Amino acid sequence: IYVLGIESSCDDTAASVIYNGKILSNVIASQKIHEEYGGVVPELASRAHQQNIVPVVHNALKKAGITKEELNAIAFTRGPGLMGSLLVGTSFAKSLAYGLNIPLIDVNHMQGHILAHYIEEEGFEKPPFPFLAMTISGGHTQIVKVNHYFDMEVIGETIDDAVGEAFDKSGKILGLGYPAGPEIDKRAKLGNPKAFQFTKPKVDGLNFSFSGLKTGILYFVQRETKKNPKFVEENLNDICASIQYTIIVILVDKLKKASKDTGIKHIAIGGGVSANSGIRQALKDGEQKFGWTTYVPKFEYTTDNAAMIAIVGYLKYLEGYSTEQNVMASARLKI
Ligand code: ATP
Ligand code: FE
Repeated sequence: IYVLGIESSCDDTAASVIYNGKILSNVIASQKIHEEYGGVVPELASRAHQQNIVPVVHNALKKAGITKEELNAIAFTRGPGLMGSLLVGTSFAKSLAYGLNIPLIDVNHMQGHILAHYIEEEGFEKPPFPFLAMTISGGHTQIVKVNHYFDMEVIGETIDDAVGEAFDKSGKILGLGYPAGPEIDKRAKLGNPKAFQFTKPKVDGLNFSFSGLKTGILYFVQRETKKNPKFVEENLNDICASIQYTIIVILVDKLKKASKDTGIKHIAIGGGVSANSGIRQALKDGEQKFGWTTYVPKFEYTTDNAAMIAIVGYLKYLEGYSTEQNVMASARLKI
């Protein structure tokens, strides 16, 4: 079964062809334009998707070595995401499925981040049900109890900023480029995680909060810069390491609680922030410390990609699922 996946929820236009769960191609056009604005500009994003979508899909088919007539289904991201961006992928997927007269399959982007673990990939094991998935990305921070492919329950989530925003906004305070997550990660490896202490939020249950941390970092940097104008420059690696360490402790504490509450010890992560090397290490350490079995996706399936959309499409196809042509993009689609 050949499935084409199309992803256009934010600022990456992506297309992927999979054959029976194996990736044949995974093409991404990232939009550089947003860097100079320090964040994604929705109107510019949807315009760039319009420019990119035809060549990206064409490339994905070419790299897979098949023609569009050989496709069995078209999967696309219905939401959540930016409406103008989602509309480009949705309309394109609808037209293509209609033209080829094959099933159209809508996919929830956050389910994609979780089910990316079911891509057939050598050296990567699939988490058995039930497992806990922590999705950490630019727009979300959730702990999801996954009973089966399409039977998922959000048991904890952020009440304000997402963890990716915590990285990006901290980076902005430090004068780093956008998105700052990867650079904080790189610098954290060279710094001392215990150099500076930041207050951790007190949020009941399994929910998260990251806006206080960002404010704490802002005040800390302002205070220290007053004393020494070169403070950030001279301590950048230590500051990055300390921020990252604080974030990791917040995430692992909640995962520990979720695992204890549910009795589930299979722990998977997904979403752009799961590319973070410190978080990957902390999870591995949890195997020894808490008896977890952990699942970390291959690097290219962590940030936004269409392979994760294609795999969900494939799994839905196997269940005989398809959607109608009148399906609408949904910016706030829930799991
Ligand atoms: P969502 O999936 O919630 O709609 P999104 O699609 O914008 O949000 P992703 O592409 O999944 O988010 O993730 C992007 C985020 O991941 C950015 O905030 C970026 O800073 C962060 N990120 C990427 N690599 C790393 C890293 N190595 N360490 C920390 N953060 C990272
Ligand atoms: Fe995402």
